Amino acid sequence: MENPEALIFERSVPGRRGFRLPPCDGPVRPSEELVPEEHRRAEAPPLPEVSELNVVRHFTRLSQQNFSVDTHFYPLGSCTMKYNPKLNDRVAGWGGFALVHPFQPAAHVQGLLQLLHELEQLLCQITGMAAFTLQPAAGAQGELTGLKMIRAYHRLRGDDRPTILIPDSAHGTNPASAALSGFRVEQLRSGPNGLISVEELNAKLSRKVAALMLTNPNTLGLFETEILTITRLCHEQEALVYMDGANMNALLGLVKPGDMGIDILQLNLHKTFSTPHGGGGPGAGPVGVTKALADFLPTPRVRKVGRRFQWDDRSRHSIGRLHGFYGNIGVLVRAYVYIRTLGKEGLERVSRAAIINANYLLARLAGTFPVPFGTHCLHEFVASLKPLKPLGVTAWDVAKRLLDYGCYAPTVYFPLVVEEAFMVEPTETESKETLDAFAEALLRIAEEARTAPDTVRHAPRELAVDRLDEVKAAREPNLRWTPAASQAAEALVSPGNAE
Ligand SMILES: *Cc1c(COP(=O)(O)O)cnc(C)c1O
Repeated sequence: MENPEALIFERSVPGRRGFRLPPCDGPVRPSEELVPEEHRRAEAPPLPEVSELNVVRHFTRLSQQNFSVDTHFYPLGSCTMKYNPKLNDRVAGWGGFALVHPFQPAAHVQGLLQLLHELEQLLCQITGMAAFTLQPAAGAQGELTGLKMIRAYHRLRGDDRPTILIPDSAHGTNPASAALSGFRVEQLRSGPNGLISVEELNAKLSRKVAALMLTNPNTLGLFETEILTITRLCHEQEALVYMDGANMNALLGLVKPGDMGIDILQLNLHKTFSTPHGGGGPGAGPVGVTKALADFLPTPRVRKVGRRFQWDDRSRHSIGRLHGFYGNIGVLVRAYVYIRTLGKEGLERVSRAAIINANYLLARLAGTFPVPFGTHCLHEFVASLKPLKPLGVTAWDVAKRLLDYGCYAPTVYFPLVVEEAFMVEPTETESKETLDAFAEALLRIAEEARTAPDTVRHAPRELAVDRLDEVKAAREPNLRWTPAASQAAEALVSPGNAE
């Protein structure tokens, strides 16, 4: 452990300032006259008194203790933490995009509306769907949007169906979104190959099922090879098929969900279409639908009338608004720039590279860590660290030890169908050298688990903090400064506590 960073409050020196206003040359009135008694505080707030340079160094140092895609390999399965070209940020920062006000009349923001309209069309071309809304602010909100549309669709037909079928390997947001939309969730047990079992689907399908909600490729990184049979069986029961499209970066330019019989899907622009994400946002989860469902899309929609673009609130069956305005515009601009700079062939290369990178790592690691489902994968794979268990070393320990080797940890304990799951998604933006370094680090940790298991069990050892109580940090976050918190923080970062 090196260089513990003191709290900014501990750097406080009475009277020190970052910025001072010039003396006032106009008439001065006391604050008592201007601010009513009940809005005045009795004492000054306990703010740190620091210089601008104190602040810059403090936060720069803290940022350097963090892991990020720009600084470290980040193979966080399911999350697609790939490198994001800076060009996208640059364009999203242009005043015409970043500084417009949501209430500006359409006539003032024609360029932005054109971009949104074109982005919808590009997403239609990429996925084979008929129409898109760009409103939802995350993948999970896209799921909610899709499920609300499914509900509205069946209701309008006088056929209010209560059930959504969801495979047991699904991302946790899938059953959560279905339950939040008022559906009953019924789980589909995966077949022995990790895919949807057509037999199980047949047994559960009925006229009570509103939709099947699947992920393709699924969360094990496997393509649903029976997809055409699956969608046909659902449609025979007049059930819809919702696809969680968060894994779309395995399919770009290779397969279109529209051609697989998918009725509704969400994309995660912040994963597949290159927006830096993490820490809760911002994101975008556009929802695409077939022609039969287009009337249910949220309003407003961007319409092209002649050569002009305008907002359109009219819609007979719309589920309404999903977002205060029209989504996270910055994320939408980034996706547009990303798609336009890569073009059709570039997008296909993205998916091919994502797939070959994942398969390369799978091949390098499978001898040491079994991969229970599939001998090859699409953009990610799930290994099992079960063989380390008899040594008293868990997937959690290995994830933490990887941090010492300068790699962010893969996703662990998800999906639930793999014991000691260790889900690796290298993404297309990494070089062979980086993949090799990661594989070698993992193999070395497997060796450590045999020869020095305590090293792994007590990792991380080389970082600014050692293993934290993450549940406590999430459940009882202490974001305020108090002398007690300061002492606790000091104990946490003091050198005596590092080992
Ligand atoms: C990330 C992810 C989601 C949720 O997306 P958010 O943008 O985090 O809400 C849903 N499904 C899958 C498969 C995902 O990987």
